[in-house]
Amino acid sequence: MKFKNSEKLYQQGLEHLVGAVNSPVRAFASVGGNPLFIKKGKGSKIIDVDNNKYIDYVLSYGPMILGHRNKNVEKAIQKALRNGYTFGASTKNEIKLAKIVCAAFPTIDKVRFVNSGTEAVLSALRLARAFTGKDKIIKFSGCYHGHSDALLVAAGSGLATLSLPGSKGVPEGAVKNTLIANYNDLESVKKHFEKHDDIAAVIIEPIAGNMGVVLPQGNFLKELKAYVNSKNALLIVDEVMTGFRSKFGGAQELLGITADITCLGKVIGGGFPVGAYGARNEIMEMVAPLGDMYQAGTLSGNPIAMAAGIATLTALKKQDPYEQFNETANVLERILLAKAKKYNVAIEVNHFGSMINPFFTDKAITNFQEAQQSDTKKFAIFFWEMINNGIFLPPSQFEAWFLSTVLSEKDIDKTEKAIDKAMKAVANM
Ligand SMILES: *Cc1c(COP(=O)(O)O)cnc(C)c1O
Repeated sequence: MKFKNSEKLYQQGLEHLVGAVNSPVRAFASVGGNPLFIKKGKGSKIIDVDNNKYIDYVLSYGPMILGHRNKNVEKAIQKALRNGYTFGASTKNEIKLAKIVCAAFPTIDKVRFVNSGTEAVLSALRLARAFTGKDKIIKFSGCYHGHSDALLVAAGSGLATLSLPGSKGVPEGAVKNTLIANYNDLESVKKHFEKHDDIAAVIIEPIAGNMGVVLPQGNFLKELKAYVNSKNALLIVDEVMTGFRSKFGGAQELLGITADITCLGKVIGGGFPVGAYGARNEIMEMVAPLGDMYQAGTLSGNPIAMAAGIATLTALKKQDPYEQFNETANVLERILLAKAKKYNVAIEVNHFGSMINPFFTDKAITNFQEAQQSDTKKFAIFFWEMINNGIFLPPSQFEAWFLSTVLSEKDIDKTEKAIDKAMKAVANM
């Protein structure tokens, strides 16, 4: 495979963009080589600027759950475009998307739309603090909740990939109220509550996707919710990745758990910048203009994004692809394990619904510390062999691969052939 045009654009990009990317996860820092520039996408595939074709398991890190350029989404966008792009006033579709979200999540009476997952989460934290009158929050090591100051500690995703402990430029004051617990370890949460009486909320990825896929064990989430509430604190369930992806009603529906505040993003914008946070009336009535917690946005509830979101969620509701996602993930898991065994490569595969990824390790992965034991050099070899065989994966051991509804059996066959070659390459490294 040749990457001549991507390399040319990368060199040009370096001049006026930071690292030629607008988000560090797009850089190929941990796998080596230069990032690819994508020209277009259709269905389950994308094409780069050198006309190389790939089956896409990145899907813009989750939003493109229907694949690229879904007909109904495209129609909805075109219709919305003809009415104008943004007004600084309410439009009918904001209510329509809010209705869909509230119907899907029984714990949400009211919702506020924002422009990104980051914004949804930072607003949810402010809301939890406003509601409880307390300052501290607990997050879990390896969970990523966007790049707001208070949450850029022990975060996964790009920080894990780049092995950064946090970020420069975050003042001590901004993180002094952030406490860190271990995923799947309720005791580590209790310890903080025993020491501090001013904890407003615990925030968690219900199915972690930003340290690679890590599943909640047993009754961890239910026990966490009960414990947190018993301490008069709130549980913020960050479903920016899992909302409408693990199940229509998110991880909450799938796992039978409830949130006090839910954060959404990614899928709900159908490929456009949207985030949302929602909760029961009692909590949401704290938000301006009903209450005194301020949060605003010039482009929030943007008409084009609302149209794309409504069309995407409507299609998901109709198709109900979640059983199929499970089956496909099971098939992929079997393939990965079989090929790894064939070439004697140690891997662990974690998957949940439409999120899956192999870890290059021989030990089970239940938290961030364990995930970090993975052999990222092996992943880098695997990654490039997959690229060279037409499979686009996130360029990091610590990111989930995403499935779309348009992934075909033929795509899976092609993926299997690529995995065979990639495991062989890992074995021969
Ligand atoms: C992606 C993600 C975010 C941040 O969303 P952005 O739209 O990138 O700001 C927050 N939380 C989780 C769980 C995510 O996966």
